[in-house]
Amino acid sequence: MISLTDVSFRYERGSELALSHLNLKVAKGDFLGIIGPTGAGKSTLAYTLSGVVPHHFGGDFYGECDVGGLDTVTASVTDISRMVGSVFQDIDGQMVSSMVDDEIRFALENFGFSPEETERRTVDVLRRVGIEELRYRALSTLSGGQKQKVALCAVMAPGPGVLVLDEPTGELDPASSEQVFEILRAMNEAGTTIVVIEQKIMLLSRYASRLMVMDKGAIALEGPTSVVLEHVEELKRMGINCPRSVELCHELRRAGLYSGATPVTTGAAARMVREVLA
Ligand code: ADP
Repeated sequence: MISLTDVSFRYERGSELALSHLNLKVAKGDFLGIIGPTGAGKSTLAYTLSGVVPHHFGGDFYGECDVGGLDTVTASVTDISRMVGSVFQDIDGQMVSSMVDDEIRFALENFGFSPEETERRTVDVLRRVGIEELRYRALSTLSGGQKQKVALCAVMAPGPGVLVLDEPTGELDPASSEQVFEILRAMNEAGTTIVVIEQKIMLLSRYASRLMVMDKGAIALEGPTSVVLEHVEELKRMGINCPRSVELCHELRRAGLYSGATPVTTGAAARMVREVLA
């Protein structure tokens, strides 16, 4: 579904490579989580998958990025947006309308849905994200978290094959963050390929089947979530704080007391402790 071959990118005004020789394959139906320190190139990768780099943010682009059969450098951003729905960190910069209803309809009309289907999908997506009451509000009156949910609705509504989300829960409380990930899980189970950048590692780990750790524009670690989380020392060196259950697991393994899987839920952490104490 997604294939990056030796992709490097330097912003017009950048001195360093923001992406450096990236090779990445994401299969259809994957749920890939991306973590990494600030400046690692995570947002630049999200821009690349959506064609925003190099179409809007110019610079020197090397290598090849293919998403769903589209070469993101030669295809138009409009064509790419039919394949890839993306929410970036700068939500305000991404909004095209002044009203919630228009924002969602705009996305659907762009896809060519009929008025009836546009209405059906608008109602459905607002219900799924739990913001029916915001439908006729002006975007300027919404909180950051509410805007994040509207942006998510707008990209979900047409049902793109790939969703690329850059910190979609940054403005949300824990309950809403979890709700967003439950929605992503449902979409993923229905066949959508998900790529999500997220700071809340524990939350991300419960949903992503694969984790990729970026550092200095490159892929530092990549693989099944529980395997990547075993690299506690390496993650710490990059300035990434591992969840406490993962650190505890690491210490127990080092002490030779535990050899099972890395726990990413409180329940699994409790089972690990029970096993050690037994
Ligand atoms: P992350 O999302 O992991 O924090 P970014 O992709 O935002 O990382 O940034 C990667 C590198 O690219 C950083 O060194 C950053 O300063 C640089 N960068 C990001 N955006 C721009 C831009 N518009 N112009 C020049 N350099 C940029």
